[in-house]
Amino acid sequence: MAKIRIFSLAKKLGLRSEALIAVLSEMGVENVTPASAIDPETGVAATELLAEQAEEARKGAQAAAEVQAAQEDGRHKVVKPGEKAETEEWAEQEFSPPVHDADLLEGMAELEHHIAELEAAAEAERRGKEAVRPLSELAARPTGERPESAIDVPPVVTVLGHVDHGKTTLLDALRDTNVAEEESGGITQHIGASEVSVDGKAIVFVDTPGHAAFTAMRARGAQVTDVAILIVAADDGVMPQTEEAIDHIRAADVPMIVAVNKVDLPAADIETVQRELLEHEIVPENLGGDTVVVQISALHREGLDDLLEMILLIAEVQELWADPEADFLGVVVESSVDASEGALVTVLIRNGTISVGDIVMCGSSWGRVRRLRDWRGKPVKSMGPGRPVEIVGLADVGEAGEIMQTCQSAREARSLAEERQGVKWESHLVGQAEVQLRHIQQELGDSPVKQLNIVLKSDVWGTAQAAESNLAGLSERLDEIEINVVHSGVGEITESDILLAAASQAIVLGFRVTAGGSARRAGEDEHVEVRTYDVIYEVLDDIRRAMVGMLDPIYEQQLVGEAEVLQTFRVSRVGVIAGCRVTNGRLERGVRIEVMRSDEQVFDGPLTSLRRFENDVAVVEAPQECGIAAEGFNNWEEGDAIKAYIEVEIRRTLPEED
Ligand code: GDP
Repeated sequence: MAKIRIFSLAKKLGLRSEALIAVLSEMGVENVTPASAIDPETGVAATELLAEQAEEARKGAQAAAEVQAAQEDGRHKVVKPGEKAETEEWAEQEFSPPVHDADLLEGMAELEHHIAELEAAAEAERRGKEAVRPLSELAARPTGERPESAIDVPPVVTVLGHVDHGKTTLLDALRDTNVAEEESGGITQHIGASEVSVDGKAIVFVDTPGHAAFTAMRARGAQVTDVAILIVAADDGVMPQTEEAIDHIRAADVPMIVAVNKVDLPAADIETVQRELLEHEIVPENLGGDTVVVQISALHREGLDDLLEMILLIAEVQELWADPEADFLGVVVESSVDASEGALVTVLIRNGTISVGDIVMCGSSWGRVRRLRDWRGKPVKSMGPGRPVEIVGLADVGEAGEIMQTCQSAREARSLAEERQGVKWESHLVGQAEVQLRHIQQELGDSPVKQLNIVLKSDVWGTAQAAESNLAGLSERLDEIEINVVHSGVGEITESDILLAAASQAIVLGFRVTAGGSARRAGEDEHVEVRTYDVIYEVLDDIRRAMVGMLDPIYEQQLVGEAEVLQTFRVSRVGVIAGCRVTNGRLERGVRIEVMRSDEQVFDGPLTSLRRFENDVAVVEAPQECGIAAEGFNNWEEGDAIKAYIEVEIRRTLPEED
């Protein structure tokens, strides 16, 4: 990772690629072309060698210049004959610096700079994943002790639901109501997130509705939503995307408020909606459950105050805070390219403060903050935590869920950016979500109950249900492993399924369905394993195998040999050796032995030394004789019976069905 191509390194050093290749060849790096990539360590070594050569060349050139000057003013005539001859000889050679490129002589400072950069890149590479992983964790709300400088921050809300149920209308309504209260200005431009204030308390809404954006962020490790609003149209009820949204919200473990929308319509049927919610185990408060359900009309802007109040109530419990004085950390929620300004990136500031002039870094892109705008598009000089802000100045757009941080210097930013360009940065961020059946065992480590998370897509509801109940059957057969169907839906495997799987560390199983192009690409990018099947038993077979692979191995002691002690003798430095005859099977060095004397165990431990005719041997088979010793046991007696055991791993299977 973070490899660098020869031509680009050469270019930086002000060299021709051939010159760099020549140096690499001196170092023993052969068969490379300008397009070959070398690792940072090799780059550093080559650059250092070049620097040494350049220094020698500089000294040589200086000496040559001195000789020439001396020749010109005739001073060389005073030196002794031997020296004179040598110096002249040197001076007569046409001077050619050993670095193959005279430009390098002027590039010393540049070189040193690049050495430092390459070293930084090499160091960053060494730090590897460790450096990356905590990033996404940082995107979570700060926890622990609240510093004195901390302030309360607004909750971040995302609206999810079926198409046409009113997500956009609701967001527009909330934004407009809020702006009407403002004295001047309006919204000049949408930046991707907006703020609503209720009695002086703010709420931040992510303007991209739907679960794709919601889950994409989560898949990148950045869970920004504090409260999810599930919008359900009162005239349409729970629809497929509503179900998907429910699963996505549940997988994210985010508090949910249900907004039953379009209650103004004559066809509105709130009771049916409630019943359908119950079918999905969403129990409204009025029916004794714990889900807040509010009735609204986004179009007529009714019930919005109730909704906002409920959001604030839920947020209050969460006690959200952030520290304006902490290191800056933002999560990208939206980005676009403007013809005149370049990349526009909206981030939600999780912690710290950003100001115009700061150097920021996002994925592999960096830049100096030229302009900042608040959610209405108004220019600001700085912005504190908890708020969305649009940043102008980055070289490139970021993707939703990417983490933005500040850097101390342009140099630091550049070297980090280079490192990240080489690596597939994203894949690092989602590395934690990387789930493949064969890796599941390692992934899960030693947790007492292991979970196999599955996103299931099927051709029709019937098969989905059959597959689900079969999986549940498998799950029940083993206490150690729980199969958790994160989402089960009908239809082709989509990008949204992949993102949900990535965010939930799940695998995707398709049953008589395929994955579309964008889903396949997403699967590759996010390292999510997608398996499709035509026959149900194939699914079950695979899952059964995966479950067996996840089981902790069990070991069994297997008797491999028996021996009898014929005589004992003391050997200096070794201790007591037992001369035995192997009566059955074999004895092996390192095996566990049990020494029995008239039915009583006198020793249990490893057989440390095994000899036959003065030679150390690994194995002695029956009916041969041998000498053995066991560390820590010298009390051998004639007639002792030895039993030798090895530990074998027992292949585990699923308990058979009754
Ligand atoms: P989205 O796909 O979830 O973003 O849904 P939209 O916000 O685009 O709304 C879909 C349609 O429903 C639009 O024609 C809206 O005008 C309409 N709509 C949204 N909210 C309401 C409402 O409260 N009442 C009525 N009658 N229509 C609504």
